[in-house]
Amino acid sequence: MQRWNGWGDDTMYVDLPIQGHNLLRELLGKGNVKADYPLEKFIKRIPTSRLPHHPLISTNPKERLDHSHGQSLPDWIGLRGGTLQHFPDGVAQPSTTEEVQALLDFSGKHDAVVIPFGGGTSVVGHLQVPEGDRPVLSLSLKRLNRLIDLSPNSLLATFESGILGIDIEAHLMTRGFKLGHYPQSFEFSSLGGWVATRSSGQQSLHYGRIEQLFAGGELVTPKGILKIPPFPASAAGPDLRHIVLGSEGRLGVLTKVIVRISHIPEKDNVFGVFFPSWDYAKDAVQALAGAGIPFSMIRLSNPAETMTNLALAGHGKQIALMRGFLRLRGIPAKGACMCLVGFIGIKRFVKTARRESFSILWQHKGVSVGKVIGEAWKKNRFRMPYLRNTLWDMGYAVDTLETAVTWDKVTTTMEEIEKAIKESMEPRNEKVHVFSHLSHVYSTGSSIYTTYMFRLSDTPEETLARWKTIKKAASQAIVKAGGTISHQHGVGVDHKPYLEAEKGPVGMSTIRQLCNHLDPENRMNPNKLLD
Ligand SMILES: Cc1cc2nc3c(=O)[nH]c(=O)nc-3n(C[C@H](O)[C@H](O)[C@H](O)COP(=O)(O)OP(=O)(O)OC[C@H]3O[C@@H](n4cnc5c(N)ncnc54)[C@H](O)[C@@H]3O)c2cc1C
Repeated sequence: MQRWNGWGDDTMYVDLPIQGHNLLRELLGKGNVKADYPLEKFIKRIPTSRLPHHPLISTNPKERLDHSHGQSLPDWIGLRGGTLQHFPDGVAQPSTTEEVQALLDFSGKHDAVVIPFGGGTSVVGHLQVPEGDRPVLSLSLKRLNRLIDLSPNSLLATFESGILGIDIEAHLMTRGFKLGHYPQSFEFSSLGGWVATRSSGQQSLHYGRIEQLFAGGELVTPKGILKIPPFPASAAGPDLRHIVLGSEGRLGVLTKVIVRISHIPEKDNVFGVFFPSWDYAKDAVQALAGAGIPFSMIRLSNPAETMTNLALAGHGKQIALMRGFLRLRGIPAKGACMCLVGFIGIKRFVKTARRESFSILWQHKGVSVGKVIGEAWKKNRFRMPYLRNTLWDMGYAVDTLETAVTWDKVTTTMEEIEKAIKESMEPRNEKVHVFSHLSHVYSTGSSIYTTYMFRLSDTPEETLARWKTIKKAASQAIVKAGGTISHQHGVGVDHKPYLEAEKGPVGMSTIRQLCNHLDPENRMNPNKLLD
């Protein structure tokens, strides 16, 4: 069963190795352990529903609680600290497009707000329930979870939009295909949610981001149904897929999604490479990204993240042996950067791609440690988010943020974000542990993914205030550096104040007009993306 106040399956627990405990104590001080707000108290506090009866709408308090949040840190603080205040008036789980349409008609008739709910893994407040007089309906896509059609000839598959990543891959793998979209939330996030937030997967360098995989589909809007056919390519005016991508539930409900699929590859290898310093490492991945070599992933950790990841991994003896090997080859313990480099495809191509890329890596003093680290990463990649639960139980909060900039700005932007985060907590006399990696590299630039950890405060209000201070400082640093406010998580409510800086007034009014056109009564997920 899914955990009601944290991440993932509630039978799963990921322990923090002793090295991780010691590191956090040393860097942040002893965690401030807080008791969780009990479920029973929440259930008692859920107000009477303002929606009239409808056969498809449940007003069960637990379901309403489960649909009142996503997985952002403010969502967690509200849930675990008991400060969450707003709940949907009802939850509907339609199982056909006609039922979705009927629910939109019903909400129109009763002036209700509708929040499309996919997997509920948003980390930027997409699912926050608005305050106000209008009743709120959470429209869960959970039961729209079927494979509708698979076309091996055209390499296309049509799914209902609420299907979760793990089920998409299960359907396709048994038939010899893959979608290959692996956000870290893969087990719990949905296809419709990926499209609506423009998500990016861990191996998107090979398979493509969701915008490359999204071939067409069906969007039920208050104005009618928008159908987008899956052309291989088209020059027939603006591409309507791009108004659906990143629409964050503002334009309507995606019910069907057609995706581009591929054959299961012969090889899917990830290698670990270490560099003596950030400058060598960053120059190496920039050279790789511009070399035209087909990678599946390049993920470069800065020195702070390398040190943290090795501590959190445990396996003290093996890591000490590896460090000894690296020392002999000129990689110091301090300042070293770890990089994961992946290749996917037929054996012959993978061999050539690996040879070409390793010759570039060697020119930049990279030292390969083979496939062990890469295999361990692949095995554990969906377990890592469970550490959020473990760390919270130890009295620490963890959050991440991300941007993308052109290569000339990568290092300075990363440094400015980390500096802004650390300095923001100085007036409170609290420490923050910050580290970053380049998660998706492109020939023109890279994304920067920053993680920060800090101690919980005595009250949820003060923990939230700490988060707000950090988030504001980091977002301002991103805007100042000329980065996008999000490379993959979307806008939601948390990034809304910074959107205009990159879209400009004409861009903002274009998006607003589009929302007004398809949703003239402003009923679809209001106040997300823009006010
Ligand atoms: C531990 C963790 C790891 C993550 N890792 C990644 C990562 O690697 N890459 C990445 O890109 N993101 C990542 N995320 C963020 C999140 O998983 C993505 O934003 C994901 O795409 C959200 O999908 P969802 O189905 O959970 O959508 P939800 O959270 O349910 O909804 C998100 C938004 O999409 C809208 N929406 C959902 N379904 C539909 C639909 N059918 N029609 C219209 N609108 C809809 C909602 O209204 C909402 O505005 C991570 C999150 C967590 C908690």
